Amino acid sequence: MVFEQARALGFIYALVMFFILAYLWYTKRWTRRIAWIVLLITVALGFLIFSPIIPWQFQSLVLRDARGVGGPLAIAAAGLIVMLALSFVFGRFYCGYLCPVGAVQELASLAPVSKVKVGSKVWPGAIRWIFFILFIITGYFFTYGLLRLFGIRDFFLLLLSAGFFIFLAIIAISLFLYRPFCRFICPFGALASIPAMGSRFKIRRTDACISCGKCERACPTNEAKRGDRKGECYLCHRCLDVCPVEGALEYRRAGGVQTKEGAK
Ligand code: SF4
Ligand code: SF4
Repeated sequence: MVFEQARALGFIYALVMFFILAYLWYTKRWTRRIAWIVLLITVALGFLIFSPIIPWQFQSLVLRDARGVGGPLAIAAAGLIVMLALSFVFGRFYCGYLCPVGAVQELASLAPVSKVKVGSKVWPGAIRWIFFILFIITGYFFTYGLLRLFGIRDFFLLLLSAGFFIFLAIIAISLFLYRPFCRFICPFGALASIPAMGSRFKIRRTDACISCGKCERACPTNEAKRGDRKGECYLCHRCLDVCPVEGALEYRRAGGVQTKEGAK
């Protein structure tokens, strides 16, 4: 019971932080230092209370396992819908910074080692949707949770099983390849990419852009080209970090006008 309440705390953390992060991005107060702090807190919550790990809760929902979601299934479904709705408004801040599974991969990706970039976002997405279909079929009809194969739970609960080492291997791959679990496997990530494509607030180019292409080369998910819809944007900030023109990229709503002091 205490553990279940603690998991609810994780959800509240994600909910509150979603707004705080969006505010910091919108007002251009976001810094790499803040990113580090948020990522570390999120990972710590993963280890301490195994929350807010929404992909795992999504799996429990598909398995109709009320104990696994830590409460009534209807409330868990509502929580999932809230996270998807917030992704539609603000983009994938949950995936970017508030999911312990994503956060630990993001931290690994910051390691200064040479990276492998997948030149397309089509086939990682296709693999993830195939996995999504298998995940729903095996979960709903055969009561088997495919996410168990990847050791998320064992890793964060420090259970030294085969799963623990599988997820450790995924983290090791994240050193070279950006977020392999999120981009190729995560069923919640597949769902979240849909509302994120139409998100009201996202990184947009302004008229100041000189088309140098630096952001496109820096983006690990191929989402920085003109007209990209940002379904796979994890708000990692790499494109903004490399952009040589101040104000050429801004996190804002469609048609919104930003000034250096903040948003109008
Ligand atoms: S894609 Fe899945 S694992 Fe990755 S951050 Fe999002 S919810 Fe977490
Ligand atoms: S580089 Fe920019 S567009 Fe690409 S994922 Fe990171 S924040 Fe999103």
